[in-house]
Amino acid sequence: MIKLAVIGDPIGHSLSPAVHGAALEALGVEYEYERVRVQKGGLAEYIEYARRTKTDGFNLTMPHKVDILPYLAEMDEEAERFKSVNTVCVTDGALYGHNTDGVGYRLAIERCGYSFGGSKVVILGAGGVVRTLALAAAVDGAAGICILNRTEDKAKQICDSLAGYDTLTEYGGFSSDLIAEKSANADILINATPLGMSGCEGQFEDFGFLDSLPKRAFVSDLIYNPSETKFLEYARLRGYKTQNGLAMLIYQALAADEYYLNKKFDKHKIYDAVIESLKI
Ligand code: NAP
Repeated sequence: MIKLAVIGDPIGHSLSPAVHGAALEALGVEYEYERVRVQKGGLAEYIEYARRTKTDGFNLTMPHKVDILPYLAEMDEEAERFKSVNTVCVTDGALYGHNTDGVGYRLAIERCGYSFGGSKVVILGAGGVVRTLALAAAVDGAAGICILNRTEDKAKQICDSLAGYDTLTEYGGFSSDLIAEKSANADILINATPLGMSGCEGQFEDFGFLDSLPKRAFVSDLIYNPSETKFLEYARLRGYKTQNGLAMLIYQALAADEYYLNKKFDKHKIYDAVIESLKI
């Protein structure tokens, strides 16, 4: 029996228990997976609880991915690189941190025949997830990374952090004209803003920028609720390959499960089982 959890705030709508549950069942592992609301500042208390209850590992979401760093005995290369942790294994009371967001996204787009290596990547948004994806793209040798964001300075800061990599970086604001101009060369276009997400009032001003994308381009939205945002719908109707954020969510969970179980498995096969089990 393995005892796992997801912690964060808010946590009520997290899909993690369902996704990990489906994966562990497909793997034939006996498990417990709890969802714990841990508010900002509550990590020390939760860690004590995790040790006391012999929790084997936990996933972290907002607002703990960076705050957990001082509590770790060690972290892996990707977590070190991202300065952010979404998976913690507890061994003899010591905490070992991992970050599976980058590998989750890489596996998700690999499934559609794409990869960062050699690609020109245009990312809309410059929040926490973009910091991770832009770095993963740079590490994998993307030909170019362009980050467009409402608050331009945040896009600049992420580009500045990529200075040591052999990738051309650009940043800019969030106007439709600029998105169209930069999309004209994109191999991969990613929406990493909440525009179009269920419960978010905002929406793209127009989708004319999708007309300037090369036909080979892959269009990715990190949102998974709704399963097809307007952004993805317009892209699909224009003939582009599209993918929503569920694939990244599932693959990052499967990569975390490999750490918890300390064994490798065929993540594409278990992904199919999770999708089948969740009936999505
Ligand atoms: P975040 O740190 O809060 O950043 C949000 C970004 O969206 C910021 O760049 C923000 O711009 C921009 N934005 C917000 N409202 C906007 C608006 N009305 N118009 C234009 N830009 C707007 O969030 P995050 O953690 O990076 O997550 C971003 C998205 O990815 C969310 O939809 C989240 O659900 C999704 N996500 C999915 C997965 C997955 O596994 N599928 C994982 C992580 C995140 P400013 O900088 O100007 O505020």
